[in-house]
Amino acid sequence: MRILVTGGAGFIGSALVRHLVNDAGAEVLTLDKLTYAGTLTSLRTIEGAANHRFVQADICDGRTVSAVLAEFQPDRIYHLAAESHVDRSLDGPADFIATNIVGTYTLLDCARQYWLGLDGARRDGFRFLHVSTDEVYGSLGADGLFTEATAYDPSSPYSASKAASDHLVTAWQRSYGLPALISNCSNNYGPYHFPEKLIPLIILNALHGEPLPIYGDGANVRDWLYVDDHARALHLIASRGRLGEKYNVGGRNERRNIDVVTAICRILDRVRPRAGGYETLITYVADRPGHDFRYAIDASRLERELGWKAHETFESGIEKTVLWYLENEWWWRPLRDTVYTGTRLGTAAGVA
Ligand code: NAD
Repeated sequence: MRILVTGGAGFIGSALVRHLVNDAGAEVLTLDKLTYAGTLTSLRTIEGAANHRFVQADICDGRTVSAVLAEFQPDRIYHLAAESHVDRSLDGPADFIATNIVGTYTLLDCARQYWLGLDGARRDGFRFLHVSTDEVYGSLGADGLFTEATAYDPSSPYSASKAASDHLVTAWQRSYGLPALISNCSNNYGPYHFPEKLIPLIILNALHGEPLPIYGDGANVRDWLYVDDHARALHLIASRGRLGEKYNVGGRNERRNIDVVTAICRILDRVRPRAGGYETLITYVADRPGHDFRYAIDASRLERELGWKAHETFESGIEKTVLWYLENEWWWRPLRDTVYTGTRLGTAAGVA
């Protein structure tokens, strides 16, 4: 089984590549542009593995993508390459349009040409898995869950670009018969999470004794999933999911942002005590423009049809995550010192 993973040097992509290489016995080619968010250090534990290769390429570059497909001859494509940070999409949407929409179109077109050239069983067995987000559904009020039938209603340039890419994948499946599936997952967290995202930002700011910024009143709710649970779900969906279907992925772990931050503080208070405790660093800051109030996933299709279940609770996953950051400064220190130093993003201040 040969699998091409786009965005495999990113947070979720690297967890998926490690799973495929270590547990699934697949032959994997990681294709990644290595933007600010991608680093090969996230793949260090599989460095030298006989069943993994890496190619630096941009999914917007159709000629290179086609050449890679022709050479590697994948049985599947798992598409995770994206611009992924909502705050950055508020300050500079152009990269999100280019990679998430035009890049996904380019990849689909290359995949279709490649797939048409396959014969017999290889063509029937080919799969294209598009990895997307629950943010395409917009915001929930205090009640209710996103199902696969929830109408799209994206709020940010990021979620709008992901919604557009989902529609392109559906169109390529319906119009051209490309054997594609889509997964829509809630917020992930875990090891190798780029320091600009909420959970690693809070852990690293706390370790540096810096303010722990909370947007608005901290009451916004996200449904958290440990990244390795997502990686297992993705391989399962591509292996056994129904073609043309969407699968929601989530761990039934809704938490208010303020509760996520205090949970991190309490773990640090225990394992790395600091005078006065970490919660004194909490600082409320101006809310994110267009901040969706609540996301919550109904993952029952994935659980019922494919037998998936999250292994980690929020409590077990967040403990593992905090300990990982304490033990793996070699990974985050270069990123925190040079690529992202912890400044506020996403005020949309520079957008005309
Ligand atoms: P990430 O930002 O950590 O990684 C993205 C990777 O894509 C990086 O390695 C980057 O170098 C690469 N990339 C960006 N533009 C590229 C291009 N033009 N060509 C090739 N590679 C490119 O993102 P992530 O959090 O790992 O998310 C992966 C996917 O999962 C994304 O599609 C995202 O929308 C989706 N998703 C993320 C979450 C989450 O909570 N992080 C939740 C649901 C879905």
